[in-house]
Amino acid sequence: MNKPKIVWLNFSVFLITFLVAAIAVPYRAITHGFDTTELVVALCCFIYCGMSITAGYHRLWSHKTYQAHASLRFIFALGGAFALQNSILHWASDHRVHHKHVDNNDKDPYSAKKGFWYSHIGWMLREYQAHRYANYDNTRDLQKDPIVMWQHKNYLLLTILMNFGVPILFGLWHGDIISSLLLVGFLRLVLSHHTTFFINSLAHIWGKQTYTERNTARDNGFLAFLTFGEGYHNYHHIFENDYRNGIRWWQFDPTKWLIKGCEFLKLTSKLRTYPDDKIEKARLAMVLKRSQKKLLSHPNAEQMREKLQQEYDLLIARINDYYDVRKKLLASRRDKLIADVESSELAAQYQEFKQHLAEQQQHFQRLLTQLA
Ligand SMILES: [Zn+2]
Ligand SMILES: [Zn+2]
Repeated sequence: MNKPKIVWLNFSVFLITFLVAAIAVPYRAITHGFDTTELVVALCCFIYCGMSITAGYHRLWSHKTYQAHASLRFIFALGGAFALQNSILHWASDHRVHHKHVDNNDKDPYSAKKGFWYSHIGWMLREYQAHRYANYDNTRDLQKDPIVMWQHKNYLLLTILMNFGVPILFGLWHGDIISSLLLVGFLRLVLSHHTTFFINSLAHIWGKQTYTERNTARDNGFLAFLTFGEGYHNYHHIFENDYRNGIRWWQFDPTKWLIKGCEFLKLTSKLRTYPDDKIEKARLAMVLKRSQKKLLSHPNAEQMREKLQQEYDLLIARINDYYDVRKKLLASRRDKLIADVESSELAAQYQEFKQHLAEQQQHFQRLLTQLA
């Protein structure tokens, strides 16, 4: 089969930046050394690029999981050009296709089913996307954002200004342009590229399928650490309009913290989440599925399967009761619509259902440990 033509611009940019980062940077480190200020500035620029992609390109523009003040959108638009990952409009368009047709080798632009190399970087090296390269029909909403369109039209100029301007200015101020270009320019860019690319490659290969098996996306705490929280990709693919990817307090999701933090400064608003009961039910459905599979080799398979199903059904019923009364209680408190007596009755019921749910969770957990 004839492969599409190589995109020489992409090919050269990836190859040259990689070679400089892999050869010239260590050579400079050995022969000349880098100082702490240079390392700190490179790290800050790495974080700025990474989070412009995760909080801006991804969670704001591609998925509209929250709204952001123009000043913040402007900062992300510059950071995205600095990260050299194409314009917001183009990135979001590709990404929406990825979600809509995930793992479909003919339609998903970086389908993980085509292997690690293809989903990581290969998809950008040849003209696989030529037929739909300039089709932005799925990002009409973004075309109304003047910052998105300004960045799209001036993309080339902005990437040059950011990628050469920032390192040169810092180098001039700090007194070492070559070191700055190597560290803040090349190494920062290459690390930023490949850590982001991991989300398309490794986060579809390595990790747990906590919430769904319907696609290849995985939850992986280590990848989350490298990608500012985007490693919880299994959650993200099923609940894509949630501004969070790591939903537990202990999960590393600095992108979520940034978006939430900016809410206090009135820079972000309308943060979207999914209801807790819906998330918990998706997780439990997967737990049930996995346990049923394990049961296949169990001596009392049929009996155990029935028991498991019973306890699971009861748990779902308890979840429904609990979240239902919780919703009513919160609404009554918010609207102050009902009398105090009724409100206190609701509160009592809430406590009761909470207790029932906790007990059933324990039952279910005990049963699961028996199966393990
Ligand atoms: Zn996404
Ligand atoms: Zn994905």
